[in-house]
Amino acid sequence: MECVYCLSPVDENANVCKVCTRDLYLFRPLLEKVKVLESKVAEHQDPIELMARVKELEAFLVAERAQAEGKQATAWWALADIAQFIFIPLALLLLAHALVTVVYDINMLYLRIVSMVLPLPFGIYLFTTRKRSILAWFLGTAVLAAASVIGMSAITGWVDQTPVLPQSMVEWREFIEYAASITFSFLTGMLLGGMSYHRKHRVRDQKDASFLTALVAGFGKGKSSPKDIHETIKKLEEMGGSLVAAGTTAMSIYTGLKAFM
Ligand SMILES: [Zn+2]
Repeated sequence: MECVYCLSPVDENANVCKVCTRDLYLFRPLLEKVKVLESKVAEHQDPIELMARVKELEAFLVAERAQAEGKQATAWWALADIAQFIFIPLALLLLAHALVTVVYDINMLYLRIVSMVLPLPFGIYLFTTRKRSILAWFLGTAVLAAASVIGMSAITGWVDQTPVLPQSMVEWREFIEYAASITFSFLTGMLLGGMSYHRKHRVRDQKDASFLTALVAGFGKGKSSPKDIHETIKKLEEMGGSLVAAGTTAMSIYTGLKAFM
């Protein structure tokens, strides 16, 4: 240690400088702190270590940015999907309603048929192009159906000065049936699209079928080759999908046309 006044060497534990006889007592803790800081600075002055740290921080920043952009991209995709598969069919259904009831004033049966057919291609396209969440889109179709029926009622209400929401049990039932008809049509499309997607990506999704594999292998009792089993599964899956699609189609037609039967 050096004396802070005269710079002559002083013993580490001395409180007074031997040369200038000044008191060093108050400076000692400060000097010790400086020493510690100096050693710390020296530690970080290794250029290789510094560069490594800079690289690490840069990589961290890049990763953070990519994640943020990824999140933004997902949000954009979701918005684009909602616009494409909810707002466009909704607008078309409302337009069909306006054309049938206000502009041409023709039988409501035509509107019901349009409502059964129109959502189908949207559902098919939605599920053919990418793997998507069935639950999320089921909720989406429910929103679409509800918005369509309420929107149609609002148009009628605006033209005829009638209340937008149903006024009796019969009207409520008609509301719900009509919405169900739209939902089932979209669901049928989703199923058909999903089956087509599954067929295209079968190889990649094969492990999904492991339960069915076990089941079919159990029935076959070792008589079937893996190829036979695979074929059987394919048939079973397609049969199942087609059956469900037939069911949702039937439900769409039934709920859509019930009021006219
Ligand atoms: Zn001194």
